[in-house]
Amino acid sequence: MMNIAFIGLGNMGRPMVLNLLKAGCQVSVFDINTVAAEALKEDGAVVAGSMDECVKGAQTVMTMLPAGEHVRAVYLGDHQGGVGLLKMVEAGTFLIDSSTIDPASARLVAQQAHTHGLEFVDAPVSGGVAGAQAGTLTFIVGGTDSGFKQAEEVLQHVGKNIFHAGKAGDGQMAKICNNLMLGILMSGTCEALSLGMDNGLDPKVLSDIMLQSSGRNWALELYNPCPGIMDKAPASNHYQPGFMSKLMLKDLGLGLEAATESQSPIPMGTLARNLYAFHNAEGNELRDFSSLFEFYRKPSK
Ligand code: NAD
Repeated sequence: MMNIAFIGLGNMGRPMVLNLLKAGCQVSVFDINTVAAEALKEDGAVVAGSMDECVKGAQTVMTMLPAGEHVRAVYLGDHQGGVGLLKMVEAGTFLIDSSTIDPASARLVAQQAHTHGLEFVDAPVSGGVAGAQAGTLTFIVGGTDSGFKQAEEVLQHVGKNIFHAGKAGDGQMAKICNNLMLGILMSGTCEALSLGMDNGLDPKVLSDIMLQSSGRNWALELYNPCPGIMDKAPASNHYQPGFMSKLMLKDLGLGLEAATESQSPIPMGTLARNLYAFHNAEGNELRDFSSLFEFYRKPSK
């Protein structure tokens, strides 16, 4: 039986733990939010009172945390004397971080893990909360070949597609590129539909036309941002996420950081980031990212 320690039990971590338990793994869980950890007890998880207790005896440690600063603090320790898990785990423990963070932090943790003789991979996900619940997440792994092989054995229980993007940090970089594309194509889809509507077109008919034409894209296929076109899309459910606008802004910000570092021009991604910054400033942070459609329909349209 696989023995896994899981840290970070929020919107994504909790359903991932449930799928690991369903697959027959023994899972020990920890979160600074004790309510989130306790809630998994009745599902069969072992609730740990500290990170130290959580990782004791684990073959694999998985983390699903908000951002780079949390991942650095958990693995490396913090400036207030908190010890990182690299100093807590037993020799041979395999480490997987599935949070979405900056590639530089992922590389730093990988390199520090290496100096402790430990294997670490970054394995951010695509697929959101629905994918985490259904066990159909896409994992994008950065690390060594042997790290990737070990990661596959665990991740197959929580995901469907598992890619090896390259070396340490490359999983994060590939995820950032994907979400940059997603932010741009969602903005473009909102813009095209809104332009058509302003000029008297029916958005359903326009969507059908674009779906069979060269404007076809993921949003039109699965996630139409205009309410009433797709029953199951967040747009038809008051923009309940889905994928929150605040997370899209975070990921586009990571794209901007990466582009600054590599001096790459990303005018489209920068514009999409700014659109989400304006949109979120109007109180849309917690709504689905397709609610950007409303940005185009205001004011009083
Ligand atoms: P979340 O805020 O719901 O959960 C994060 C959890 O980490 C919280 O329960 C928090 O208490 C815990 N945590 C924070 N610091 C901790 C620490 N030091 N020790 C232990 N626990 C700690 O976030 P989420 O929506 O689950 O997202 C997690 C990661 O997955 C993020 O990096 C996010 O960008 C990424 N992601 C999220 C989605 C999504 O749709 N929610 C989709 C893809 C990727």
